[in-house]
Amino acid sequence: MDTIEVLNHGHPAATGAPAGQGRLLERLAVLSQSPPQSLVLEGGDAESRLAAAMHWAMLLNCGAQRRPCLSCRSCRQIADRVFRDLLVFEGAVGVDTVRETRGVWGQPPSGPGCRVTVFSQAQDLNAHSANALLKSLEEPRPGNVFVLLAPQRERLLETLVSRSFVLTLAWPDSAGREDPEAEDWTSALIGFWRTGQGWFERTSVKGGVDRDLALGVVLSCQRRLVRALCGPAADQPPGLYGLFDARGLRRLDLMLTEAQEALNIQPSPVNPALVLDWLAAGMAVHRAGRPG
Ligand SMILES: [Zn+2]
Repeated sequence: MDTIEVLNHGHPAATGAPAGQGRLLERLAVLSQSPPQSLVLEGGDAESRLAAAMHWAMLLNCGAQRRPCLSCRSCRQIADRVFRDLLVFEGAVGVDTVRETRGVWGQPPSGPGCRVTVFSQAQDLNAHSANALLKSLEEPRPGNVFVLLAPQRERLLETLVSRSFVLTLAWPDSAGREDPEAEDWTSALIGFWRTGQGWFERTSVKGGVDRDLALGVVLSCQRRLVRALCGPAADQPPGLYGLFDARGLRRLDLMLTEAQEALNIQPSPVNPALVLDWLAAGMAVHRAGRPG
């Protein structure tokens, strides 16, 4: 089973315990109480890392506690990447750009939250750019936080990593590593939420759903939820964006966590087919536009 391991730099967290997307989001929520000036997000795939960075930006700028509300102006603008206190640099960023932006970082953010600067391919920073950035990290920058995304921390300048809090996403790094059966079931589940059809005939087959498959569906839904939180550009069909409103997406997040817990109860997990049916029926009433 795919798990997310959250590591503090140099100190591997206990591994082996099943963990889901919820755990990373939980860590980010705790971290947001006292945000580190620099956060490195490694592991997973590029899309997941960027999704986590946008979630972080929302946490630091949404007035809601622990979970972004997804509906306030800040959350919506971050999802659309038009938020004033969000800078996202892609690809190889030149040293001149880093130097020019130091003036911005020297200023407090324009809103009441944090200015979040994301380097989405920090591994592509050359030594000059990385050193210029390091200088910025060495100076206090009130209200400014940095997020460096990279496949592995080893691909970043070591001094940048040592000045950062590191979280590792052990998500599948390519679509090919996702469990095709779980993906197929997840597509059917999303189809059911859209149309009200094509689900219960699957789960009513005796022995048709085992625990690994159910956990795979939950994990796949969690991945798609993070994409949906990032707005339409990050979503991939069949996606969740537009299917549920902000309240529905929050409800889904909670239900996925509960489903995962039910499947992990030892020594006797809840029947996996029942858990998936509970998820299917429970979210069907939260479709956007319906009273929820
Ligand atoms: Zn918000």
